[in-house]
Amino acid sequence: MKAGVLTAANKIEILEKEMPRIMKPSEVMIRVKAVGICGTDLHIFKGTRTDVQFPRVMGHELAGEVVELGANVKKVALNDHVVFDPVIACNTCKICLKGHKNVCSSVKCFGVQMDGGFQEYIVVEEENVYAYDKLVDFSVAALGEPFSIAANILERAGAKAGENMVIIGAGTIGLAILQAAKGIGVKVLISDISETKLQYAREFGADMAINTGIDNLEAAVERFSPEGADVLVDAVGSAQLFEKTLELAAPTARVVVIGFDSNPASISPIAITKKELTIVGSRMNCRKFDKVAEWLNQGIITDKMISRKYRLEEIQKAFEETLNNSGSWIKTIIVFD
Ligand SMILES: [Zn+2]
Ligand SMILES: [Zn+2]
Repeated sequence: MKAGVLTAANKIEILEKEMPRIMKPSEVMIRVKAVGICGTDLHIFKGTRTDVQFPRVMGHELAGEVVELGANVKKVALNDHVVFDPVIACNTCKICLKGHKNVCSSVKCFGVQMDGGFQEYIVVEEENVYAYDKLVDFSVAALGEPFSIAANILERAGAKAGENMVIIGAGTIGLAILQAAKGIGVKVLISDISETKLQYAREFGADMAINTGIDNLEAAVERFSPEGADVLVDAVGSAQLFEKTLELAAPTARVVVIGFDSNPASISPIAITKKELTIVGSRMNCRKFDKVAEWLNQGIITDKMISRKYRLEEIQKAFEETLNNSGSWIKTIIVFD
């Protein structure tokens, strides 16, 4: 079978690999049909992730078809179309047993710290596989993973209908949070410096979409929600923008942190005390793929975020062109025959 293998920084080669085999009764073989390129993949491609060794098959946002079942598999059937939860944990530690696999101290993301989906077949545990309606396009289903992140963020924030939310950054994650939030009746202001991305945000129902290259964010939030916002997410993930979200928060607001910036933010305790703010982290997703399958079946996840599709053979070009168009493209999908 063919695999797109990152053999060195900035270099993905199509290599012939041996077919994987089902080794455990709980495993499923999936014929991969569509895989999204994530910001994480772009970082790994450029060689800036120190926790990733080459050679590596990336890809954690995937959809495919079940082609073989282990003897004990009950959750899915042959020919089912499935999305895949890339959170792989030890399943034995206290945190895993409490159900929080996404924050297990040895958690791995499929396609990041282990080989992933840019290959024709994968063998995975049935617990990570979720069937959805066969009428949904595989490329649309590959958007499921970013939506699992959005579902996790909304739950962590305890966002409710009628609340005001500020999202900084209208990339894939920002736009997925926006759509999920609008779906439950939350009012959303979203900001970015790309007019193209803001145009998507307006299409997805943003109540305000602010270009912070031109407009002042504080003034916009003041117009949007004069007491400050109830829920805030920095979907860019920088220490500086995290500080900003605290400033824009209303009393009793929830600030969700999803960034991997290791630079310190400067926060005065009084800023949190005076407004009784709640600061919560959100990492990947904690069992949100049932929700994702539901959203796929209901048509809530659409192809509008897909900027471009490439075949596996064109994966090198796909990565290069995605990097060159990062200001305007939302999601690139690799499709398989
Ligand atoms: Zn991703
Ligand atoms: Zn664990």
